[in-house]
Amino acid sequence: MLKLYNTLTRRKEAFKPIKQGIVAMYTCGPTVYDYAHIGNFRAYIASDLLKRYLIYKGLRVKHVMNLTDVDDKTILRSRQEKIALKELTDRFIKAFFEDLKALNISPADVFPRATEHIKEMVELIKKLLALNIAYKTNDGIYYDIKKFKGYGKLSHFRIGKLKAGARVRADLYEKAQAQDFALWKFHTPEDGDVFWQTDIGQGRPGWHIECSAMSMKYLGEHFDIHTGGVDLIFPHHENEIAQSEAASGKKFVNFWVHNEWLLVEGKKMSKSIGNFYTLRDLLAKGYDARAIRYLLMATHYRQQLNFTFNGLDGARAAIARLDEFMLKLKRAREEESDKKVYGLVKKVRESFESAMDDDLDIGKALASLFVFVREINKIIDKRKISERDAKEIYTLMLEFDSVLGLGLDREETKAPPEILKLVEEREKARAKKNFKLADKLREQIKARGYLVEDTEQGPRVKRIK
Ligand SMILES: [Zn+2]
Repeated sequence: MLKLYNTLTRRKEAFKPIKQGIVAMYTCGPTVYDYAHIGNFRAYIASDLLKRYLIYKGLRVKHVMNLTDVDDKTILRSRQEKIALKELTDRFIKAFFEDLKALNISPADVFPRATEHIKEMVELIKKLLALNIAYKTNDGIYYDIKKFKGYGKLSHFRIGKLKAGARVRADLYEKAQAQDFALWKFHTPEDGDVFWQTDIGQGRPGWHIECSAMSMKYLGEHFDIHTGGVDLIFPHHENEIAQSEAASGKKFVNFWVHNEWLLVEGKKMSKSIGNFYTLRDLLAKGYDARAIRYLLMATHYRQQLNFTFNGLDGARAAIARLDEFMLKLKRAREEESDKKVYGLVKKVRESFESAMDDDLDIGKALASLFVFVREINKIIDKRKISERDAKEIYTLMLEFDSVLGLGLDREETKAPPEILKLVEEREKARAKKNFKLADKLREQIKARGYLVEDTEQGPRVKRIK
């Protein structure tokens, strides 16, 4: 039974989907005004790990991730760059999808864009107006937090005495400022041509109403899991609950799952101290996307993750060990196995699952996996594994990888096809004892950034950088 830590109740709870066999899950997606940074990707990888593990456990997952393509930040950036809002957001949505693919983050079933759901947001605001929970001022429509009894239940923040009429128009604000927030912002000159003509006036939505409207449209008024970074607990998720529950009269979400911050070299990431990285920055430095994924995933999601370049080297080495293991399994040709194999296989499956069942304890799950790899490697080196058992272990590793997403089955992740072709030619030359040609081919492979080593199990290719 999977247990998940629920921010709402502040404890681990057994997870059970509302509808048997299917999980409805919503993840707050990117604000598409720039390239996503590795802190953003930590959150998406945490959600991805959860989703992949639910699928591993035999559940179906309906996953929705929104794209915030209208808010304070996107409008400001498009005006700074003197381009249309859509031109800006289309560019960064395309980049975001490329980044998801590079990190092997499985795509959501639906990626709704805020600008394509204005109608749903307006309907929701009209409902809140009719219930007298929302009110109009001269610059917009606001949510009256005093009217919602449960306000503060997610962030465990007590409102205390509110200043009468304290309101905030900005999409982002501090915890110290619990106050009425904007659902709809009437058009101002700063918004330029970004506005919609609607029943509730000419303007644009606030950020928080977007996620309430789109999650309920695709997943229903009451659904299983909502994920995001801890930075979204307040005000964003608190406001989502207030909007949705006031409108529907139902509990909005059963499980709120939040990942902790990411630090880079021990410090909060910031452009001013020079430790700010997008995925693209790291790829341009020659780091491998699989190593980046590994590093972002390998720390428990509720712990702060310290992203370091040493850590990236370690992640690369860990993946290389797994790749090498997969290759050895493929090449096993013996008839019989050591008797220990069966017990090791049984044990690793149990320990992997019990770790993941405990609020996705990835550290423990990976540790048990590497103990298994080491033990089986010893047996392989003694030529005591049968071809059949090796195949079975290979399949088991792929099952684990359906959770980890490290691409252990992809030959091309080890070396590109042209390199593999050269390696093959070199093997042929060696078989014919044409060592001069073999050496020449080795140099050609090296010139392309790969090293070929000859091992008992055959040639092994490594990336030099
Ligand atoms: Zn959101």
